[in-house]
Amino acid sequence: MAKVLVLGGGFGGVVAAERLAEQLGDEHQITLVSRNRQFVFYPALVKLAFGKAETADVSFDLRQTMLNRRINFIEAEVAYIDPFERTVHIAHGQVEGKLPYDYLVFALGRRLATERIIGFYEHAHHLLNVDKAISFGKAVKKLHAGRVVFGQCFGARLPVPVYESAFALARALEEKGERERVRITVVSPTTLKSELGDVTAATAIKKALDEHQIEFLPNLQIESLTENSAVTTGDAINFDLLMLVPPFRGSSAGSCLGITNEEGYIHVDSTMRVAGQERIYAVGDCTNFEGPKMGHMAVRQAEVAATNLAAEIDGRAPVSHYQHELKFVIDEIGADSLYVEKDLSADRPATVRQGHFWSWAKRVHEKYWEVSHS
Ligand SMILES: Cc1cc2nc3c(=O)[nH]c(=O)nc-3n(C[C@H](O)[C@H](O)[C@H](O)COP(=O)(O)OP(=O)(O)OC[C@H]3O[C@@H](n4cnc5c(N)ncnc54)[C@H](O)[C@@H]3O)c2cc1C
Repeated sequence: MAKVLVLGGGFGGVVAAERLAEQLGDEHQITLVSRNRQFVFYPALVKLAFGKAETADVSFDLRQTMLNRRINFIEAEVAYIDPFERTVHIAHGQVEGKLPYDYLVFALGRRLATERIIGFYEHAHHLLNVDKAISFGKAVKKLHAGRVVFGQCFGARLPVPVYESAFALARALEEKGERERVRITVVSPTTLKSELGDVTAATAIKKALDEHQIEFLPNLQIESLTENSAVTTGDAINFDLLMLVPPFRGSSAGSCLGITNEEGYIHVDSTMRVAGQERIYAVGDCTNFEGPKMGHMAVRQAEVAATNLAAEIDGRAPVSHYQHELKFVIDEIGADSLYVEKDLSADRPATVRQGHFWSWAKRVHEKYWEVSHS
């Protein structure tokens, strides 16, 4: 019997645990450890912020859904892992002390390094969890005039909600007849092409921004914030409301083991095994792949890791390999909604599609995820 611990109840951890349960016999024990028993469907947080979804629509209770698939669930905070002892140290939660493992899947996502931007905590909104999305939504409701700035900090690696929330605000203001009173600006630390990974996608989004009279300022890295102003590598930017995606770093539970790069992301090979470690796999936002950090990547990596882990337990060689590709929809809520698909390991242009269909497809995908995992 093997004891498999999966750390993290996000896209990567949930899919890894589910696939392992499908592939491993009943004699093996699978346990998912996460700090929160709620699974949050992050791509729907923009809708939550703009009042187009309720909290119950974007999250569900993991414990029962895991138990239904014969996966144990432990609600606890992981402090660190000890690969020599093969234990996971728990800081606090439903259990205390150490959890032993034979095999480990690390899927603890990324950390928001808000401390890197002075004034972030006091002066910026973000929408990267349920509470923050709701709080940003309340601030939006109160605003009837002025300037709203959206953007990513250098190292943030999540462009989709920046553009979606700028479009959502423009539409909300258009509906209320207040669009003329509010200036909307999107700030990028690089360029649209490098944020979206493709020149055709960048051109399409720029056109959509122009149509909504949303100003776009490239190559501005926000360094610090005061109450109504962002200090950048260029001119200061004034704002009445700011939604800023902070810099990302790898999970601190993976640091100090010599398995991460300087930003704390874990080195893995294409089989999703952690480089230089035995019996440890890592998937999702915590891993060291270039480009944006996206849910579909976490899902695909989890599928690969689960297949290879099941093979390893069975004494077989790895059979599955991860191919790094970008796939996302920016939901403009209308005909400018954009789908982008690009193989990041090849020097080929992306597949780019645009139309109302992609807004609908993103909503359907969200429902499909909920039905098939909750
Ligand atoms: C607003 C928003 C919109 C997005 N839109 C899209 C989109 O349109 N398309 C797309 O593909 N991707 C999108 N993403 C990105 C996508 O959500 C992430 O890439 C995905 O969630 C990564 O999955 P993960 O399992 O690696 O990490 P996560 O989903 O972050 O899961 C990590 C899990 O580990 C738990 N955890 C972390 N640390 C600890 C600890 N120390 N102890 C115990 N538990 C811990 C967390 O609570 C969480 O359950 C969006 C993200 C956000 C925030």
